[in-house]
Amino acid sequence: MTTESIMHNQYEIRGMDCADCARHVEQEIQKLEGIRSVQVNFVTGKMQISSRQPITEQLIQKAVNRAGYALHTPTPQPDNDKSLLPILLAGLFILLGMSAVYIFSLPRFGIPLYILGIVTGGYKIARQGSREAAQFRLGMNFLMTLAVIGAMIIGDWLEGAAVIFLFAIAQYLEGRTMEKARHSIEKLLNQKPRLANVIMNHQTIPVPVEEVQIGQLLAVKPGELIPVDGKIEEGQSFIDQSSLTGESQPVALGEGDHVYGGTLNQNGYLEILAERLFVDSTFSKIVDLVVEAQSQKAHQQNVIDRFALYYTPVVIVLAVLIAAIPPLFFHAPFLTWFYRALVILVIACPCALVISTPVTIISGLTAAMRRGILIKGGTYLENFSRVQVMAFDKTGTLTEGKFQVQHVYPSGKQTLEQVLMIAASLENKSDHPIARLICSEAERYHLHTAEVSNFWSLDGQGIEGMINNHRYIVGNHNLFEQRNLCQPELHELLSTIEDKNHTAVLVGNQHTVLGVISIADSVRSDALPTIRQLKEQGIRRMVMLTGDNHRTAEAVARELYLDDYAAELLPAEKVEVIQKLKREFNKIAMVGDGVNDAPALACADIGIAMGACGSDAAIETADIALLEDNLSKLAVLRRISRMTMNLIGQNIVIALGLKIVFLLLAVLGLATLWMAVFADMGASLLVIFNGLRVLNPH
Ligand code: ADP
Ligand code: MG
Repeated sequence: MTTESIMHNQYEIRGMDCADCARHVEQEIQKLEGIRSVQVNFVTGKMQISSRQPITEQLIQKAVNRAGYALHTPTPQPDNDKSLLPILLAGLFILLGMSAVYIFSLPRFGIPLYILGIVTGGYKIARQGSREAAQFRLGMNFLMTLAVIGAMIIGDWLEGAAVIFLFAIAQYLEGRTMEKARHSIEKLLNQKPRLANVIMNHQTIPVPVEEVQIGQLLAVKPGELIPVDGKIEEGQSFIDQSSLTGESQPVALGEGDHVYGGTLNQNGYLEILAERLFVDSTFSKIVDLVVEAQSQKAHQQNVIDRFALYYTPVVIVLAVLIAAIPPLFFHAPFLTWFYRALVILVIACPCALVISTPVTIISGLTAAMRRGILIKGGTYLENFSRVQVMAFDKTGTLTEGKFQVQHVYPSGKQTLEQVLMIAASLENKSDHPIARLICSEAERYHLHTAEVSNFWSLDGQGIEGMINNHRYIVGNHNLFEQRNLCQPELHELLSTIEDKNHTAVLVGNQHTVLGVISIADSVRSDALPTIRQLKEQGIRRMVMLTGDNHRTAEAVARELYLDDYAAELLPAEKVEVIQKLKREFNKIAMVGDGVNDAPALACADIGIAMGACGSDAAIETADIALLEDNLSKLAVLRRISRMTMNLIGQNIVIALGLKIVFLLLAVLGLATLWMAVFADMGASLLVIFNGLRVLNPH
């Protein structure tokens, strides 16, 4: 057996000022030995490398340097690259030159001052441009350098200087705006707890959160972040969980309640028993997923990247043809057409186009995360805007999952307590919403649950296990029918329970039913408004899939005006329904709570898990996780995803449209060099600003 281990590493790159840069870095890294994949995100500056063998940081550093950038090292250093001073100096020289020529009629001072402007503003661009040229890359700096050299050859010194100045200032602005986009993401991740106060021998000792061990007791004062996931041993407080769930309303928690690392303890003193290491805590998992999501390219982006690959060479060939053909074949003046070719060179960089999508997608992901919606990649954001059909799990998703026991019907010689005790003993080991209810009901009766062995979950319909060498089963009617354990006398009772839209939980042994517990769940108060909103937002069909009985299912489906429902489904049958829907409709999303519906979540184009905070399984299987147990987040998600896609569309039109307009203007001789730079860089800024708008969806 060959075990190939893949290593994943993440780096940060400084100084990338053009979306094309990311691709060049990727190309350089790809050349290293043992690289499996590399992804550089221009917006976040993060680079993810998977490799088959360890690669030293020096090698990576060198490759990044070859592409013209540097790896970010943790020691902060002043960012001279973006310094405004040379740009301002260039502007000053140009202004002086223009005043000399046009105001003071001293034309001989013009050219030297313009040259000074070109040198101060442009030496960095030229340096970067020559690097690009040395690697046969058609980068933006190279194109600009070429255009300015061309302008100088023609003798258009002022124009050359203006091009440099505009380009430099636009790049500076672009860097600043991207910084803003980056910052909004980092703010999200910055609420990382750093220290934990471990209680040992009646003393508290501060240790880094990474070193907290499971089972240690931690002291958390008011205003402090909770270090790791754990259970409150002592004290009560309001906890602000907005960093994880997006819910700004703090929740009141006390002894026995679970708390998450990275959430804020507002006002009480708490002692918390660490239940997870920091790396395994929900906070760390979410941060990892968010970082990974950002480096995944959406489908749109791949299309654009491929387009960009051909765009530049095509435009350059066009520029050469425009400079050559009219003078050669039509006796047109060479200088005129050479100038027009230079204008075309300026717009040969697909920058605005290449930035337009990632900026918008990352803003969309950030906007969602701020509202407690964790999306695992741009693709899902993109796909969710196209979803036509949504399938919902019932229990715990459309309903609260907070059941109430209506009645316990012991049969034969059993007592109510015996039935409850057996049920609760088994349910102790289950995490189904029904299980939680039955256990707390048993506690209410002060019943002691028994030790259970050979515990088994029965296909999403119930559970079984051994108590004192006797086998017991707890589950729904279907399950008992399948095992021939149901007596006809029970049918009348079961019908009356179902007629009230309650759910019957049967408790039995190997031979017979020992009792029936009738329970009821209520529909979430936000279910109906959410379903309505989703309809308005263009979801064509909404269906409910449930393992519960037909009558209860029908009642819920009717109450919520759902288009259809399917009941008494096993987890595998839920998958079949999803597959059928997939054949009929374009994109389908499944919403569930991760209990018994993980296979269906995985099968749908987009699996959405509800109330995923704290449930690793749900966070891991789902493509999108609603961290808070709140159905209305679905409408928010739809809004963000549609707005993101709209803005991407707008951005592509802006970026491409401006290029096409300028191409025509250039050929007709109506565009000047500095206008082209203005439009080109203006387009970049415009798409960035437009993309950032999704951070505040309306
Ligand atoms: P839904 O599809 O509505 O979310 P589930 O698939 O979670 O419902 O469960 C389907 C049915 O199976 C429940 O209505 C219940 O009758 C039965 N069931 C599943 N797990 C358990 C359990 N741990 N204890 C008792 N009944 C269970
Ligand atoms: Mg469920």
